[in-house]
Amino acid sequence: MYLKSLTLRGFKSFASSTTMRFEPGINCVVGPNGSGKSNVVDALAWVMGEQGAKNMRGGAMADVIFAGTSQKPALGRAEVSLSIDNSDGALPIDYREVTISRTLFRSGGSEYAINGTACRLLDIQELLSDTGMGKEMHVIIGQGKLDEVLTSSAEDRRGFVEEAAGLLKHRKRKEKALRK
Ligand code: ATP
Ligand code: MG
Repeated sequence: MYLKSLTLRGFKSFASSTTMRFEPGINCVVGPNGSGKSNVVDALAWVMGEQGAKNMRGGAMADVIFAGTSQKPALGRAEVSLSIDNSDGALPIDYREVTISRTLFRSGGSEYAINGTACRLLDIQELLSDTGMGKEMHVIIGQGKLDEVLTSSAEDRRGFVEEAAGLLKHRKRKEKALRK
């Protein structure tokens, strides 16, 4: 499984539709300060279900929508699509390529889709939950996150590793079973 491409439309500084293609292995995003590199990473986290406006480096979630410049008017919606190569079947879905997308309207509504079919946020979270790309998003390590991991307790650190390894789901199931 690897990320194949990312399309941003009206997301942060990416007003017009912009597609980035990735290859298996290491990919680098380079550019001058303020050119939108971190916005690309924000878009990845966002399309995978990130719910915290602060984690998107904004005050409110609507701040991800293109806010306009002196040349271009603000837009009414932000859309991000992520295509994932699933030829190894790592995602529990019967498609060799899976595209997840998320749209947020300035009016407040939001939409999620898997391969063009509308779905719930939960469906996307479940789809990704065994890949380490799930809810807590420990596959994306921002600057502050690194400090957090280094200064956290042994137990919390174990939690990060378990999440990244896709074990959290099993631990939760085990805890639930033991409570019964
Ligand atoms: P650095 O090298 O300094 O880390 P960067 O390439 O990571 O820079 P970003 O932080 O991704 O840059 O992009 C910052 C730019 O995105 C700023 O110019 C900011 O105004 C713009 N931006 C952020 N949100 C929006 C928005 N909603 N609408 C328009 N532009 C936005
Ligand atoms: Mg940056």
